[in-house]
Amino acid sequence: MPLQPTIGLEVHAELSTKSKMFCSCANEFGAPPDSHTCPVCLGLPGSLPVPNRQAVESVIRTGLALGCHVAERCRFARKNYFYPDLAKNFQISQYDEPLTHDGHIDLEGEGQPVRIRIRRAHLEEDTGKNIHLSDGHTLVEYNRCGVPLMEVVTEPDFRTAEHVREYLYTLRSILQYLGVSSADMEKGQMRCEPTINWIDPDTGERTPKVEIKNLNSIKSVYEAVKYELARQKRAAAMGEEELVQETRRWDEAKLVTATMRLKETADDYMYFPEPDLAPLAPEPEWIEEIRASLPELPRARAQRLVVDYGLPAYDAGVLTETRDLADYFEAVAAAVPDAKLASNWVMGDVRAWLNQEGGDISTLPLAPTALSELVSLVAAGTINNTTAKDVFAKMIAEGKGAQEIVEAEGLAQISDTGELERLVERAIADNPKIVEDYRGGKRKAIGALVGAVMKATRGQANAGLVNKLLKKKLG
Ligand code: ZN
Ligand code: MN
Repeated sequence: MPLQPTIGLEVHAELSTKSKMFCSCANEFGAPPDSHTCPVCLGLPGSLPVPNRQAVESVIRTGLALGCHVAERCRFARKNYFYPDLAKNFQISQYDEPLTHDGHIDLEGEGQPVRIRIRRAHLEEDTGKNIHLSDGHTLVEYNRCGVPLMEVVTEPDFRTAEHVREYLYTLRSILQYLGVSSADMEKGQMRCEPTINWIDPDTGERTPKVEIKNLNSIKSVYEAVKYELARQKRAAAMGEEELVQETRRWDEAKLVTATMRLKETADDYMYFPEPDLAPLAPEPEWIEEIRASLPELPRARAQRLVVDYGLPAYDAGVLTETRDLADYFEAVAAAVPDAKLASNWVMGDVRAWLNQEGGDISTLPLAPTALSELVSLVAAGTINNTTAKDVFAKMIAEGKGAQEIVEAEGLAQISDTGELERLVERAIADNPKIVEDYRGGKRKAIGALVGAVMKATRGQANAGLVNKLLKKKLG
């Protein structure tokens, strides 16, 4: 049997709580350095931690959404290590008793569904940040120290870099739907560390595990996993390079992984139960309340959009990428006769505008009712698509309604057969060469004649009708 890749993933997500994990300092990104600190998150002697209820709820919410069990009782543990960004010299985490455990995420695969088992989703605190200056000095910044952090760990169920990538998109979207984390990798709110090795399924023999750090986008995770799989396979087959258990970092510029340090084991951290915190025992009624408040998740919502609106699966996938975009689409679709047309507009012009402006749907200065007014005019044949695109831009620029713009500027589509017939005849008379081509069998030549009529009407002619009239006249 050939060697098989095994990949596991550890994801850390910062929770969007109001305050930090064990103190009342604000959990806010981008504040002046060290402005959100206190004796607890600076680890000063005599200070005592108090757990954040909203953070506990966020992990339970996530656990339930991933089909995990919520522990009846669990404890925090100290993970001991020295690093300048960790003021206490230990991190409060969870070790042998995670808050939630044993769930799964189902991926679409490549038309072949794949189940990734979730080993655990637990709660811990984030560290501060070391900022390395070009003069060789290092600054330590403590605003992030003590920010609630959720760690989601999978079983080593991934076989390809593509599945790892799909998992990260899926998990990110689930966390955003749940409202527990913004999960923005560029802001360091979601960080992931894949562990990769190869196994011989016959003998059970395996190459040493390699963990990769320093990954700051889903794209770099994908590239790093691909690179590392290839490096290890080559090393195992050729024996040119000795494989060792280690932590490697991803070099964004050279697109290679490189040794960072030899892998520490759990023993190195000397975990022990956190003596300053009582065990957590979430009340069953509270867990049921959280379960009842779970929103419809992206996958279920995409499946419903296919059924309720008759959309292609592709459209449904794109529209449910974020909860806000899906809400927006549904609000537009509710008020138009053609849901697919609404989908085309949201997926096309709306998303193009968002990409160009770099914002999310909340920044679009166009209420769903405004867009449905425009879509309805297209559906009714009052304006054609070309005109509608101009109207869309004007609606955003001028803040006016679609109907209002169409009336004020006389943009309604020309569907008057008499007038169009006259224009068609002129197009035929003006373009003898094209007409000859068409009659000689070049059927595509008709496009140029339609174009001539559209030009004469500044794009307002009903193109379908023009096409029909031309065919009739040309025989
Ligand atoms: Zn604090
Ligand atoms: Mn961790």
